[in-house]
Amino acid sequence: MAGEPQADCLFCKIVAGDVPATVVRESATTVAFRDINPQAPTHVLVIPRAHYADAASLAAAEPSVAADVLREAAEVAAGDKVDEGGYRIVFNTGGGAGQTVFHVHAHVLGGRGFNWPPG
Ligand code: C5P
Repeated sequence: MAGEPQADCLFCKIVAGDVPATVVRESATTVAFRDINPQAPTHVLVIPRAHYADAASLAAAEPSVAADVLREAAEVAAGDKVDEGGYRIVFNTGGGAGQTVFHVHAHVLGGRGFNWPPG
């Protein structure tokens, strides 16, 4: 069923506490944890507790939770004090764009400068 935990999903296992993660924030609907392979001084992933493959699927099924993910991303940036310098929220969507874990996650990146267009 849509949103239900998937046995083979790494991020569902992090939500369940079965795989360790450095959690920085939790809400009723989301979990935020530090990326294991950080690409910036702040690199945190914000995920919904519910399992959806990508941002579009989440927004279509549970738009209020999609909004929760964005709100939590902003709270992470403020908590790490990277909000004033500017930060980036990235949803890689599909393998061609670099998505490797198919449980939607917002990358919150900050603490350094960024180029545009992105690589
Ligand atoms: O957007 P993409 O799907 O490639 O992002 C997955 C992210 O999950 C990577 O940045 C990777 O470092 C991170 N990851 C993690 N902890 C794990 C496995 C992957 O933070 N145990």
